[in-house]
Amino acid sequence: MKVASVVVDVPAMQTDRLFDYLIPTEWIDFIQPGMRVIVPFGPRKVQGFVMEIRDTTEVEKLKKIHTVLDLVPVLNKELLQVGEWLTDKTLCFMISALQVMLPAAMRAKYEKEIKLISKEAFEVLDPSIKLLFGSSDRLGWEEIENKNLFKSIQKELQAGLLEVVYKVKDRANKKTVRHIQPILSANDLDDLSKGLPPQAIKQKEILSYFLEHPKSVEIKELITNLNCTEASIKTLIKKGVLKQINVEAYRDPFEHHHFEKTTALPLTEEQSKVISPILDSIEDVLHKVFLLYGVTGSGKTEVYLQSIDAVLNQGKEAIVLVPEISLTPQMVKRFKGRFGSKVAVLHSGLGTGEKYDEWRRIHRKEVKLVVGARSAVFAPFENLGIIIIDEEHETSYKQEENPRYHAKDVAIFRGQYHNCPVVLGSATPTLESFARASKEVYSLLTLKERVKKQSMPAVEIVDMREELRNGNRSMFSTSLFEKLTNRLERKEQSVLLLNRRGYSSFVMCRDCGFVMNCPHCDISLTYHRTNHSLKCHYCAYELAMPSKCPECDSQHIRFFGTGTQKVEEELTKILPEARVIRMDVDTTSRKGAHERLLNDFGDGRADILLGTQMIAKGLDFPRVTLVGVLTADTMLHLPDFRASEKTFQLLTQVSGRAGRHELPGEVVVQTYTPEHYSVQLASKHDYDTFYQNEMMIRKLHSYPPFYFMALLTISHPEITKVVDVAEKITAFLRNSLSDQTIILGPVASPIPRINNRYRYQCMIKYKQEPDLTSILKQILTRYQREISQQSLNLSFDLNPYILM
Ligand code: ADP
Ligand code: ZN
Ligand code: ZN
Repeated sequence: MKVASVVVDVPAMQTDRLFDYLIPTEWIDFIQPGMRVIVPFGPRKVQGFVMEIRDTTEVEKLKKIHTVLDLVPVLNKELLQVGEWLTDKTLCFMISALQVMLPAAMRAKYEKEIKLISKEAFEVLDPSIKLLFGSSDRLGWEEIENKNLFKSIQKELQAGLLEVVYKVKDRANKKTVRHIQPILSANDLDDLSKGLPPQAIKQKEILSYFLEHPKSVEIKELITNLNCTEASIKTLIKKGVLKQINVEAYRDPFEHHHFEKTTALPLTEEQSKVISPILDSIEDVLHKVFLLYGVTGSGKTEVYLQSIDAVLNQGKEAIVLVPEISLTPQMVKRFKGRFGSKVAVLHSGLGTGEKYDEWRRIHRKEVKLVVGARSAVFAPFENLGIIIIDEEHETSYKQEENPRYHAKDVAIFRGQYHNCPVVLGSATPTLESFARASKEVYSLLTLKERVKKQSMPAVEIVDMREELRNGNRSMFSTSLFEKLTNRLERKEQSVLLLNRRGYSSFVMCRDCGFVMNCPHCDISLTYHRTNHSLKCHYCAYELAMPSKCPECDSQHIRFFGTGTQKVEEELTKILPEARVIRMDVDTTSRKGAHERLLNDFGDGRADILLGTQMIAKGLDFPRVTLVGVLTADTMLHLPDFRASEKTFQLLTQVSGRAGRHELPGEVVVQTYTPEHYSVQLASKHDYDTFYQNEMMIRKLHSYPPFYFMALLTISHPEITKVVDVAEKITAFLRNSLSDQTIILGPVASPIPRINNRYRYQCMIKYKQEPDLTSILKQILTRYQREISQQSLNLSFDLNPYILM
C-alpha cells in the first residue's frame, strides 16, 4: 500500500494539516512529493499538494486520490521544506506557503496542454506517444487523462521532450508567432517541385528551402530570407503542402531591448578585497551571510556580477533580488549584458502568462540566473550557488499579506540548505543587518569610495522656517529656485523628490518646526479630524489638538502634506519654460508608463523629473546635476519607529543620484527640522555616525535590533467586540509571555477602521520567546469559530514593517 499525505486547498485552521489518501496502484512510482493532485474532501473534490509518500496510515477508511494535476513535481524537496518553515515562521496556512512559491497561472484553474519542446524532440518520442501528436505540436490534458497516459508522459517530460503549458487567457496569451511547416515528406516535396511550371519560381524556392530545413520557420523570417510574398506561401498552404501553426513565443519583456555584451571589468583594490571572501565561500561550498556595505556608486553591482560568474562557472545557479522599483531596463541591462540569455527576469509588470513562462524556463533549467523582485527568492533552482539581495534595506522585501515572509529570511534559509553565500548589499543597511555584522553574525564587507573616486555631491540643507520668516510662502526655497533656473540655462537636468510615503497627518509648527511627539514612544502623534485630537498609535496616549505651538506660541501649527500635482502646478507657474515630467502612482499606473517616462527624461526630452520616492533609486542619468528634496520631513514624522532610518536612507539614496558621472552634482534638502540628526548626517553621507546615534535611541525605547517585535491586529465589525477580544488577548499574552517581554496595547490601530471593520492592535517587544508562535497559535485556536465565520479577523505580523 502506498499512501500520499496531502495538504488540501481549504485554507482554514481545521484543515491545516496533512490528510492521507491511497495512491491507486497504477500510479504507484508515478506520484511524487511536490505534485499537485485532486482529492475527494467531504462532498467536494479539492486540490492539494503531495507532501510525503508513506507505506502506512492510521486512517481506516482511506479515500483514493482522484486525479493528478502535475506529471512532474512543481515543488522540489527543498521548496517543500521552505514551505513548512514558512508556515511555522509566519503562522500562515501550509497551503498558502506552498502556493506563494508558484506562479499565479498555476494557482488558477487554467486549462493545460502538453506541448512538444521542439521538432527534434518529436523524433525521439516513444512511438505510442508520437502517434497521439499526429501533426499537431500539442495534446489536450483530457486526452491523456482519459487514456491514462500520465506515466508515459511523465517519462517524456523528465527527458525534457515535452512540457506542460497553461492556456492563460490574459493579454499575454496572444503572444504567438505564425510559423510555416511542411506537411509532405522530403520526397514528396521534391516531386512536387519538379512538377511545378517553370514560372512558379517563388514556390519552387520555398519548397527547396523546406527540403533543406524540414523544421517549422517563422513566416516573417521565411518572407525576408526568400524575398517572397505571403501569397506564394498561402498558395502552397492551399495545395496542402505546407501548413501554418501558431507557435507560442516566450514573452520576454525585455526582448525589444538590445543588450550589448559586456565583460568583467578589472576590479578596483577595494572591490578585489570584498569579492575575495565571497569567492572563497563559493569555492568552499560554505554558507555565509555577507553584508556588502558600499556607498552609492562604489561598484557593488560589478562585485555581484563577478561573483555570479564564478557560480555559473561551477555549473550552479544564482538569484538576484532587487526592489521592484529598481527593476528598470537600466538594471536588467547590466545582467543581460553580462550573461545574455541565461537570465530570467521576474517582476510585477509581467502578465500571468509571462510570469509562468519565466518560471518554466527556470524549472526546465534553461536559465541559470534570475533577477527579480521579492518572490523571485522562490525560483525553483536545485543547485543554487549564491543569492544576492541588492538594496537590502528596502521594505518591499517583506510581503505584507499572508504569508508575511521577508525575502531575506527565505534567502538565508535557502543559502543554508545549499551551502552557498547570501550577499546583502546596501549603501544604507538596516540597523538590524549592520548590528548583526558588528556582532560578526554576518561578515561585513565595506566599499568606502566611489569607483572613479568621484566625490559625493555637496548637500545644502535649507531651513524652510527661515524661508517663511523671510516672506517666502512658496514650496520652493530661494536657493532651490535659483539652482533650478541655473540648470535650465546650462541645459542640465534636475530631479525633484516629493516624499510622500504613507500618510502625512502629523502636526508641525511652520514657524519653529516643532512636531508633536508621544512622550512615551518617541513617534509622532497622529491627527484625528473627527474629534480634533492627537493620538499615539503605539500606546494610546491622547491629547487635544493645541491651537498654539507649545514651543514658540505660533499659531501656524497644523498638519502636513502636499501632492505631486500641486508641486507641478507651482513649478509651471514659477518656471514656465521648464519641461517637467511627473512620476507618481497616477502617471505610472499604465503598463510601460514608468519606463517610457524615464526614457523621455534620459533622452533629454525634459528638464525636470518630479516624483515620489519611486525616482530615488537605481536611476543613472549623466546630465542630472541637481537633486532637490522638497520636504524631507514627511517621512521623518510618520508614526513609525523606523522613521529616522527611512529618512536617512531616502536622503542618502536620492543624493547618490547626482553627479555620478563627469558633471559634479549638488543636492538641496528642504526641511523644517534641519537640526535632526538623520537630515544632518545624510547630508554628510555619514552612515556610521547615524548608526551609532540611532542605535542609542533604539536601545532607549526597546526597539529592534535590541528587541524583536510582533504586531497583532484584531478587527471586527463591532467595536465592542474588537475591544473585548483585544483586551482578552493582551491579558492572555501578559500571562503567557516572560516578564522581560513588553506588551503594548491594546490600542486602536493608526487606521482605526477599514471597510467597516474596527481595528485594534497590540504590540509585543521581546528578546527571547521560544514559544511565541505556539502561544499565538493557541489564540488562533481559541477564536477559531469566530474567525471561520469571518466576523473576527486576527492578523499576526512577526517583524512588522508597516505599523498601521
Ligand atoms: P553601486 O551599485 O555600488 O551603486 P555601480 O555598480 O552602479 O555602483 O557602479 C558605479 C559605476 O562604476 C558604474 O557605472 C559601473 O559600471 C562602474 N564600475 C564599477 N566597477 C568598476 C570597475 N572596476 N572599473 C571601472 N568602472 C567600474
Ligand atoms: Zn513653533
Ligand atoms: Zn506612545
